[in-house]
Amino acid sequence: VNPRRLGERRLIDQIKARLREVAPPPPRGIGDDAALLGVPRAGGLLVSTDCLIESQHFQRHEPAYLLGRKALAVNLSDLAAMGGRPVAFLMTLALPAALPPRFLDLLVDGLGSSAREHGVSLVGGDTSMSPGPIVISITILGRTSGRRSDAVLQRSGARAGDGIYVSGALGASATGRLLLQAGWRPRLDARRRHLRGVSPARARGNATIAGGTMATRTRALEALRAHLDPAPRLELGRALIESRIASAAIDISDGLSIDLDRLCEASRAGARLMSPAIPIADSARALAAPLGRDPLHLALHGGEDYELLFTVPASRERLVAGLDAIFIGRITPAARGLLICDARGRQRRLPPRGFDHFAAPLRPGRAAGASRATR
Ligand SMILES: [Mg+2]
Repeated sequence: VNPRRLGERRLIDQIKARLREVAPPPPRGIGDDAALLGVPRAGGLLVSTDCLIESQHFQRHEPAYLLGRKALAVNLSDLAAMGGRPVAFLMTLALPAALPPRFLDLLVDGLGSSAREHGVSLVGGDTSMSPGPIVISITILGRTSGRRSDAVLQRSGARAGDGIYVSGALGASATGRLLLQAGWRPRLDARRRHLRGVSPARARGNATIAGGTMATRTRALEALRAHLDPAPRLELGRALIESRIASAAIDISDGLSIDLDRLCEASRAGARLMSPAIPIADSARALAAPLGRDPLHLALHGGEDYELLFTVPASRERLVAGLDAIFIGRITPAARGLLICDARGRQRRLPPRGFDHFAAPLRPGRAAGASRATR
């Protein structure tokens, strides 16, 4: 598709046609100068925005269908971190003149599949030519789960003594990103939608995983899935609000250490993590070393896990049973900063480092085993 030849009107028509079930007709949906939404009588409106930029967040060779899903998923994850329910979203697309074949159709279909899964509709947006990269910007609207407008999870409620929990294993997405950088590629089904397997890097990359055994390929597929098709933790976010278990929450978008630092800063608190308790994804454990990385480092600083990180007052910790909640440490007074403790009780400072958009990307081939002693 060449968006320039297509023209904006036909581009929008094409998007509308492909999103028929998830784009309600005007006055609610696309087609007027603005979308009209009913305002909830009780509770509050949640608004958040996040964008994906080619070369910064994704590469053009990545599957367009999954890119559409991810563009919405990262926004839904922010709602999950607040314990909200998604309602509608707006999308602005900036597209260069030449795109890979069927890119737009697949992108929009992926977006639609995620929208249907989470019961959220596209109500408007904008399209533009881009002189450079593909840009997909989404603004999501949600509502609070409870009747009260302050019935949300926030970053600021953690207190010294609260338990720190994470909703799942970490480091798989960063492993997936490193595999892509090393030349590994996802294999898709015939409709170019779902991940079916992986193709190992041909000549590039580390010899240890070039070609790859069956087990290696299984782990590589898990890592690529985590990176390309993350699942927002909306149900858990709502459960945390409804049960009033959590004192604070954030989603892990840039990395456990940096997102924990943000939560601690908002709460004016510090934290001590127990490194043996940090759940490292199997794919990170299996593939970090051949990628020249330390698995714990990937779990602490890799980012894009889209798990929830939350704190629970000691008096409510028995209530986490039955939830996806893995205990990883405790909130401390602010003066102590971020600390990480190994199995023998040795403590060190935890630098809040993550996937920083303004810093150089992670370089493979360094730091393998550097912090293994702390695992
Ligand atoms: Mg967030």
